[in-house]
Amino acid sequence: MKKVGFFGGSFDPIHFGHLNLAIEILERCGLDEVLFCPAFCSPFKTEHPPVASGDHRLEMVRRAISAIRQFRVTPVEIERKGPSFTVETLRKLQTKGASYHLILAEDAALHFDRWKEPQQIIELAPLIVGTRGMSVAVPMAKTTVQIPLFDISSTEIRARLKKKLYCGHLIPAKALDYIQEHGLYS
Ligand code: ATP
Repeated sequence: MKKVGFFGGSFDPIHFGHLNLAIEILERCGLDEVLFCPAFCSPFKTEHPPVASGDHRLEMVRRAISAIRQFRVTPVEIERKGPSFTVETLRKLQTKGASYHLILAEDAALHFDRWKEPQQIIELAPLIVGTRGMSVAVPMAKTTVQIPLFDISSTEIRARLKKKLYCGHLIPAKALDYIQEHGLYS
């Protein structure tokens, strides 16, 4: 049975915080692969939908993970459009021969009970949560992994890109080149 980490997010744009979390969890939880799934639109962010289109975000993820053999990306939520409910995606992804685990950072995990059908999600994909410290009790998490979470957010990166500030220390070069080629976030 292949052990797959499902990692959803807006990835607007993807950054080293996301990659670091995914690498740490892959290695420390013995996953076979991590499946990145850019959301068409997070149900929690419908008032502030992603700035870059789904196709651009998908391509940035694709480029950012291209050198990492165990990382893959799926367009399933971008193609489905509408609010991206994880429970629906996980139902669609269920296949023989793979068991899924949902990868989250602690900020997302702390309001997991507000997600659509959280119990069903846990049955389809038990949570693996990256936390900054033991003191954070994460409700419903099956596994918590203490990792040095990078203090980076896509929001901060978009603001830096708008101001034309350097971002090479925050985003993989291939994704940054793509942003510049297409004039995203300017
Ligand atoms: P935004 O600033 O636009 O809200 P974000 O940087 O928080 O975006 P998302 O794409 O919304 O990124 O996050 C997807 C997933 O990655 C979530 O589980 C989130 O908790 C996690 N995540 C976001 N930033 C980091 C980080 N710096 N380190 C580890 N995990 C992160």
